[in-house]
Amino acid sequence: MTLPSAADASALLPQLQKIRRSLHRNPEVGLDLPLTQRTVLDALDGLDLDVTTGERLSSVVAVLRGGRREETHAAVLLRGDMDALPIIEETGFDFASDNGAMHACGHDLHTTGLIGAVHLLHAHRADLPGDVVFMFQPGEEGFDGAGKMIDEGVLEAAGVPLVGAYGVHVSADQEPGHAYSRPGSYMAAFSRFDVTVLGRGGHAARPENALDPIEAGAALIGQLQEYITRRFNIFDSVVLTVGMFHGGTAANIIPESAELSISVRTFSPETTARAEEELPRVAREFLAAHGLGARIAFETLLPATVNDDAEAQFFLQTFEDLFGADRVHTVAHPRAGSEDFSRVLRRVPGSYGHLGAAMPGVDAAAQEVNHSPRARHGDDGLGEQALFLAHLAARRLHRELDRSAAGPRS
Ligand SMILES: [Zn+2]
Repeated sequence: MTLPSAADASALLPQLQKIRRSLHRNPEVGLDLPLTQRTVLDALDGLDLDVTTGERLSSVVAVLRGGRREETHAAVLLRGDMDALPIIEETGFDFASDNGAMHACGHDLHTTGLIGAVHLLHAHRADLPGDVVFMFQPGEEGFDGAGKMIDEGVLEAAGVPLVGAYGVHVSADQEPGHAYSRPGSYMAAFSRFDVTVLGRGGHAARPENALDPIEAGAALIGQLQEYITRRFNIFDSVVLTVGMFHGGTAANIIPESAELSISVRTFSPETTARAEEELPRVAREFLAAHGLGARIAFETLLPATVNDDAEAQFFLQTFEDLFGADRVHTVAHPRAGSEDFSRVLRRVPGSYGHLGAAMPGVDAAAQEVNHSPRARHGDDGLGEQALFLAHLAARRLHRELDRSAAGPRS
């Protein structure tokens, strides 16, 4: 197989840095990113690709047809998210944004790295035994852009089955040029749990004639935390935080109701399902025992990001082959943040991981983290990032070729 080389990637680097800095200067938030979409389309212009754009969001899906696609009838998906955050930038970069939004999560690098991967794979498409779907995604930051792209058909874009899906996220506070991932659970599911405690208002001096929603609501918080410690495995944990508790108007009044708004993080689909089922029941039955009613809503907004074991191994091994074992880290624990690429990984075996992107020559661990107005991501690694993504796609398709050559699987 002929694969893109480090020299190919370095040759591309100045152009990628130029694109990244232009995206960084013009960040856009949410699902509608017209300037960003235009930049991507311009960067892909003239290449032999099937390109479509989203209907409900400004996504770009590009499909590269491999010259040897008939030998596998398989495709691999590479994803880069493109949206920024509503943060006033304080990085001091000479290409800093001044429009009230900021690429504080480094999605400008994700977009650009994916553009680089398109170019590297396009130059080697003749030997590619399958197709590659490039998923340029808006709205990762709380807009479920991935779910919307799945609704619009990104997973069927190639017309052949996807056998692998990969994505990377940069970190402003991790070593540049280093990769981090793990098999299995990698990032948390995020669920929102709202409880309105329905009591009966009355005089503060006569609680026996009322049903006090504040007393019961406060006790409920402890009940939920206790239930979690007794009923869930500590190694597949549940993180429950009551972020809002509102009720009452004055010291001498028992109010009619109180409201709790709770966030729940879980790390496996099984635990997410149990939390959905059991925590509302605990709340309802505990409050009923005190004679109170409840209005309850529990919604899982994002599933856990779970890497396929074999694909995570392949992801880490590919990085090691390219850049050396001392730059690859199998992390011990999942990260507690959430990520909508989880929706793709629920349907296609694949792997997600982080790439360090601290500025060169600084103490990475002391840097400001993603989402800080002072988060500074370096872009010297963009060539390597593109090369890594390109190798994930090409090597995975070649592995598929080896498997089909070995005969049909039973
Ligand atoms: Zn992000």
